[in-house]
Amino acid sequence: MTGRTVLPGDEIATEEEYVADEGTYVKEGRIYASRVGTLVLDEEESMAKVVTPNAPNVLKVGDIIYVTIDDTRKTMATATAVAKDGSRRCISSSTVATLHVSKISPDYTDNVDAEVRKLDLVRARVIGVDPSLQITTKDPHLGVVRAQCGRCKTELVRKGRGLYCPKCRRSQPRKLADDYGDVAI
Ligand SMILES: [Zn+2]
Repeated sequence: MTGRTVLPGDEIATEEEYVADEGTYVKEGRIYASRVGTLVLDEEESMAKVVTPNAPNVLKVGDIIYVTIDDTRKTMATATAVAKDGSRRCISSSTVATLHVSKISPDYTDNVDAEVRKLDLVRARVIGVDPSLQITTKDPHLGVVRAQCGRCKTELVRKGRGLYCPKCRRSQPRKLADDYGDVAI
């Protein structure tokens, strides 16, 4: 599957087959992508790596992007833009984005933590680029597309309108994208 675009957390190989190289990390014998990029499985050297091309990719209002949540505060979440939808190029403009609490859900919410959490991977639309990147997740196709349990790191599964950790048996609220858990970019 060399050449496909991978996201942070995507399982790309096992340690029995390959040595983990740049852009990857290993957990329990499996190799995962640690960044967005193009997967390279080098058969001769038995190396698995994720490479990121350098071509510029400046964001503009209306772009659909993927971000990872860095922090949640009272009135907003801060995030890092990691990829642009439908583009294999990395983002070269400012990658720090803010998601204001009023821009998260079509329903009223005053609790950022009930919608997104640190490390969530989120699909969002750019609504401002000046002076900094601002995003919204109000549409049905926008919101969290992948999330791990904050306690045990198990990938959360969809349950009703929120998420559920099968290991901790704990439900967690989120503003989900309509295709949560089934995302390819
Ligand atoms: Zn858990």
